[in-house]
Amino acid sequence: MVTGSKWEDAVARQKAHALTVMDKSVPARLQRLSKLKEAIKRSEPELLQALRLDLNKSETEAYMTEIGIVYSEISHTMRHLKRWAKPKKVKTALTHAGSRGVIIREPYGTVLIIAPWNYPFQLVMSPLVGAIAGGNTAVIKPSELSPHVSAVIAGIVSGLFPPEEVMTAEGGVEVSTALLEQPFDYIFFTGSTAVGKAVMEAAAKRLIPVTLELGGKSPCVVHRDADLKLAAKRILFGKLTNAGQTCIAPDYLLVHQEVKGRLLDELKAAAVRFYGDQPLSNPDYGRIINKRHFDRLVRLLQDGTIVHGGQYDEDALKIAPTFIEIADWESPVMQEEIFGPIMPILAYSSADEVVDAVTARPKPLAFYLFTGDRDVEKELLHRIPFGGGCVNDTLMHIATPYLPFGGVGESGMGGYHGESSFQTFTHAKSVLKQTTAFDFAFRYPSARNGLRWL
Ligand code: NAD
Repeated sequence: MVTGSKWEDAVARQKAHALTVMDKSVPARLQRLSKLKEAIKRSEPELLQALRLDLNKSETEAYMTEIGIVYSEISHTMRHLKRWAKPKKVKTALTHAGSRGVIIREPYGTVLIIAPWNYPFQLVMSPLVGAIAGGNTAVIKPSELSPHVSAVIAGIVSGLFPPEEVMTAEGGVEVSTALLEQPFDYIFFTGSTAVGKAVMEAAAKRLIPVTLELGGKSPCVVHRDADLKLAAKRILFGKLTNAGQTCIAPDYLLVHQEVKGRLLDELKAAAVRFYGDQPLSNPDYGRIINKRHFDRLVRLLQDGTIVHGGQYDEDALKIAPTFIEIADWESPVMQEEIFGPIMPILAYSSADEVVDAVTARPKPLAFYLFTGDRDVEKELLHRIPFGGGCVNDTLMHIATPYLPFGGVGESGMGGYHGESSFQTFTHAKSVLKQTTAFDFAFRYPSARNGLRWL
């Protein structure tokens, strides 16, 4: 049984370490990152097996969406950290003549990273890379719903870092809740919008700054001029990776009415090309994380008209790629984040219709648009608020360390990846270094008294 005081002691030790021992030198951080990468490399076989057990992730998918992303995050960070961490000199205003401004990126201290189950490795490790690069100590809390991956993470971390530097807290809501009562210096949370609100409420009690990486319904718009064959492949890639259990998966399709029928044909053909006409027996097709989510998704299959798929296997927790034509926005499948391989399809006739419908709902985490029409692209990208997204692709914006990744409004706040991670996990400490070579008398009261006209 985990008690609050266990975490109290552990976090207190990390905080003391962060203040006294944890050195702020870039070489030490680089060494930690390099060791982390080596340890992950050594643990690859266990990790691949754990990802297979928790989510039936194929080896290719595991490399592409979990392990490879973490390697590239570490390599990119190691290449640039020296420059990012260097104190940045800035100009000062005319009123500050003789002085210099400098911004020092300071570690927050001790950070808490809470992660979900859908990318159970990447979503713990990528923020951890940022936390280490920033010079922080960290407590990481992987999801209890992906226990095999959590165990591998705990093994990697405990074999590499003393607990006062980085520590894994395995367990469920009770562990999260106990951790959220501790005086962390920063909280980085990835998960659902509902739990994000609880995390922010807990953080508010101590004014702890937060990054919230949340979810929601991400629209995918296919305009009438789009290359439909290519669009279908890229949309399905985004929808079927990890069986749709991706925070930035295209949640629903908005298709121009003129091309709806043709796009549907291309989608059906692509689904069969990807996983065959018996996807449920394809060993590389992902499964749903647990019975609760499986039942929730099967209930959504009752909605609208199924135009492809609809089969499921309760024992294997698999649901076939399914396209559902729905009549309007009121249908049940449009009321919650789907988080599974089910794609509702709605038709539109004008860009205004798309803007009105999407902006009437919470700001999405991702937005995807398939078109070659620059005017449509400009209009939709400017009029629709969203966390991040792609034109003529899906998911890929998450995989480059040069683009900050994060949500806005109900899909989250703050961002990370690459330099954005480093900024997230450090405070920008502003210092004005004043000259002692001269002094302006007029700033002092005695001088001002003689200069009433000022
Ligand atoms: P979740 O919010 O249920 O759980 C996330 C983490 O919070 C887990 O570690 C869990 O143990 C913990 N937790 C659960 N309830 C809690 C509570 N009441 N108090 C404190 N901690 C609690 O999310 P999930 O089901 O694991 O993941 C799916 C959700 O995460 C989806 O909404 C998805 O869109 C979102 N997500 C977002 C991103 C992103 O980068 N924005 C990435 C992946 C998943």
